[in-house]
Amino acid sequence: MIEKKPPLTIRLCQPRGFCAGVDRAIQIVVLALKKYGAPVYVRHEIVHNRYVVEGLQSLGAVFIEELSEIPPEHRQSPVVFSAHGVPKSVPADAEARHLFYLDATCPLVSKVHKQAMRHQRLGRHVLLIGHAGHPEVIGTMGQLPEGAVTLIETEADAASFVPADPAALGFVTQTTLSVEDTAGIIRALQERFPELHAPAAESICYATTNRQEAVKETAAGADLYLIVGAPNSSNSRRLVEVAERAGARMSLLVQRAAEIPWEEIGEISTLGLSAGASAPEIIVDEIIDAFRQRFDVTIDLAITATETEDFPVMRVLRDVELTAADMAFVNGAA
Ligand code: SF4
Repeated sequence: MIEKKPPLTIRLCQPRGFCAGVDRAIQIVVLALKKYGAPVYVRHEIVHNRYVVEGLQSLGAVFIEELSEIPPEHRQSPVVFSAHGVPKSVPADAEARHLFYLDATCPLVSKVHKQAMRHQRLGRHVLLIGHAGHPEVIGTMGQLPEGAVTLIETEADAASFVPADPAALGFVTQTTLSVEDTAGIIRALQERFPELHAPAAESICYATTNRQEAVKETAAGADLYLIVGAPNSSNSRRLVEVAERAGARMSLLVQRAAEIPWEEIGEISTLGLSAGASAPEIIVDEIIDAFRQRFDVTIDLAITATETEDFPVMRVLRDVELTAADMAFVNGAA
């Protein structure tokens, strides 16, 4: 006798997964490999996802943390900077070493860099709201001279910060923060420093905002919420927090289907599912398939926004054609 599977509704968020900045960064590495051949060096994980990194390694990308790791005989090979952005010292170092570099910094991170520089040009001390040690924060702080930026991680930091001139302050934020937490920190700063200058444009990016909004709208009543993403992916971790706060009974981050803790999950009838901006769609499919093996699944697609953003790659790579297979990888579908 065939055992009847229990019913499960999967509330699948849309938008989810790859954003335009991640898509562009992966495209840059693939295009560079096609144009210049292997090896193509990539400074830091191009995006925070093992599946993507391993896929690119299998095509000939070599991941390094510092430019000094490039052997002298490979100086002619391109080196790609990751989507998170780099301090100004990195391209300067590449030039000093006569390296050929391709900067895959997301244009929305570059926009934050420009806003920080603008504050400083206007004589303001810059407050960067973000998480210490994240590569994007290191990159943004590294746009300005030492001492020009103070990192604010929490409302407690906002309460204890003592400026040299409270009338000359401007803030920017990391692009992948919790919209709610950041609003709280900004409020706390504005209460203490009414003359605090905001950036000319919102720093938290469209992809972060949209993914958080989708999770927020679908979390109430979910027995479990799964976010596909890596532990070092800031935007993915924020989605786990958003799901919990918005009413999911349990919320977990998973990198692959093999990580789903079936014992811990117990009986469920509604699952929320989304993916961070660096998580490929193929892993979302893998997770849905894993649930189909145990449950009679109904997919309830929750469309909360339509994304049309598309960031072009740099001119030097525009003459390279991508095959359908390349495109599937770039889009996270293979
Ligand atoms: S999450 Fe936002 S800032 Fe980061 S790469 Fe994607 S679009 Fe750019």
